[in-house]
Amino acid sequence: MKIEHISTDVLRLSLWPLDAANAYVLGDILVDSGGKFARRGLLSALSRTAISGHVVTHAHFDHQGSSHAVCEHLDIPFMCGEGDRTAVETGDIAQVLPKRDSWLARLAQRLAGPGHPVARSLREGDEVGGFVVIETPGHTPGHLAFWRESDGVLVVGDVLFHRNPMTMRSGLREPFAFATFDPGMNRRSARKLAALEPAVVCFGHGEPLRATQRFAEFVSTLRND
Ligand SMILES: [Zn+2]
Repeated sequence: MKIEHISTDVLRLSLWPLDAANAYVLGDILVDSGGKFARRGLLSALSRTAISGHVVTHAHFDHQGSSHAVCEHLDIPFMCGEGDRTAVETGDIAQVLPKRDSWLARLAQRLAGPGHPVARSLREGDEVGGFVVIETPGHTPGHLAFWRESDGVLVVGDVLFHRNPMTMRSGLREPFAFATFDPGMNRRSARKLAALEPAVVCFGHGEPLRATQRFAEFVSTLRND
């Protein structure tokens, strides 16, 4: 597994080829856990890193798939946004998809990892791993981003993609509409993040972006609704 040092106490774990899916270590906190088949690689990559807690940006299978296994194995507390708490705890992730009875939701549910008890749900302004929690609802109701003002590192989860994880095409884009609970609300969250004027943007999908003017420009083109 490729591990990239992004900034002080910030690691990116590249879980899929071409950086198509990422987890991060912020301080001693693991952010996201990839799909359920990432478990072994993730635990091996973390074996020499002190991890004292785990948080998911949101309750989708490619972010919570190995969360139960990691929390059990490392015996660490699990955290998420309040709006995704039930999905994360039960493993019933279809409830945060726009159409919970669609075939896509059934497929996503089959790919989901098991639920795991949440020790603490996070709110706007909470601190985790030296980062401030930013509530960014839209892609899911309880989606979270993480921000460190001192060096401008921003972890955006799936508010925007920097690589399409299905076609593997690189570039900024909105997350898939079929997997986004409320696209209009997600655009408002993207504008909230762009207003922070980050120095480096770290995505759930795709390589980090340091030419952050492109991030601001892309967000300014998003439809206002
Ligand atoms: Zn994702």
